[in-house]
Amino acid sequence: ASSKKVAVVTGSNKGVGFAIVRALCKQFDGDVILTSRDEGRGQEALKALTGEGLKPKFHQLDIDDPASIDRLRDFLKGQYGGLDILVNNAGIAFKADSMATFAEQAVVTVGTNFGSTLNASEKLFPLLRPHARVSNVSSFVSNMAIKKCSEPLQTRFKDPKLTIEGLKQLMAEFVSLAKEGKHEAAGWPNSAYGVSKIGVTVMSMVHQRCLDAEKREDIVVNACDPGYVDTDMSSHKGSKTIDQGAETPVMAALVPPNTTSPRGMFLSENQVTVW
Ligand code: NDP
Repeated sequence: ASSKKVAVVTGSNKGVGFAIVRALCKQFDGDVILTSRDEGRGQEALKALTGEGLKPKFHQLDIDDPASIDRLRDFLKGQYGGLDILVNNAGIAFKADSMATFAEQAVVTVGTNFGSTLNASEKLFPLLRPHARVSNVSSFVSNMAIKKCSEPLQTRFKDPKLTIEGLKQLMAEFVSLAKEGKHEAAGWPNSAYGVSKIGVTVMSMVHQRCLDAEKREDIVVNACDPGYVDTDMSSHKGSKTIDQGAETPVMAALVPPNTTSPRGMFLSENQVTVW
C-alpha cells in the first residue's frame, strides 16, 4: 500500500457531494475518491470532473449495502493503507408530495441517513490515520428538529455521556413510535428527515468523544450544514449553488492539524454554530 493521502466522499455522483469532490481535488494534497452507488452514474460524474482537468478516482459505494462498504474498506486498505478524509455526504429525503406513509419514510430515512452513515463510519474508522478528518453532512433541519423535540428528549440527545448505543436506541424509539403513529404524542417532531439529521449531528459529537477516549491521534469529527442548495434533493429550490453548498463540508474536511476547535461541533456558514 502507498502512504499517499486519500479522501472519500460518499454519494458524490451529483449534488453537494459532487461539488465536495471538485473542491477537494483543488484543495487537498492527495487522491480524492468519488463514490456512487450506481457505477454508471459514478463514471459519468468522474468524466465530467476529468473534463475540467481534475483527477478524482472512482469506487462504487452504496452505504445501505454492508458488502459494498467492506469492498471500499478493503480497497482503501490495499491501495493506501489508511484514510485521511471521510465526508459522509450521502443522504435521502422523501418529497413533500410523496405517497409513502410516515412509517415507511421514518424507516427508510432514518435507516439511510443515520443507520447507514453510522455503518460506513464504523467500518471505515479503523482506517483513519493520525490527523484524519471526518465531515458529516447533516442539515440546518437538524437544528429545527431538535428544538421541536420535548424537553426530556432534548436532554437525552444532549447528554454529554450519550453513547452510540444510546443514540441508536433513541433513533429506534422514534422509528417504532412512527410505525404506530405515536411519535408526536411521545414528543417527537413530525419530520423523519429532521430526526435522521439530529442523529447525524449527535453521532458526530459522540464519535469525537469515542475517538478521543481511544486516544486516536488528532482525529477530528464535525457535523455540518451545507445550507439550502440547488440540487435534486431540494427540487432545485435551494438558493446556493452546489459549489457554495460544498464550502462548509470542505472546511470540516480540511480542519488544520492539531486544531482545538472545531472538534465534535456543528458547523454552518463556515462557522461553529450553537446546536
Ligand atoms: P442529492 O439528492 O442531489 O444527492 C444525494 C447523493 O447521495 C446522490 O449522489 C445519491 O446517489 C447519494 N445517495 C443516496 N443514498 C445513497 C446510498 N444509500 N449510498 C450511497 N449514496 C447514496 O442531494 P444533495 O446533494 O442535496 O444532498 C447531499 C447531502 O446534503 C445530503 O446528506 C443532504 O441531506 C444534505 N443537505 C442538503 C440540503 C439541500 O438544500 N440540498 C440542505 C441540507 C442538507 P443517487 O444519485 O444514486 O441517488
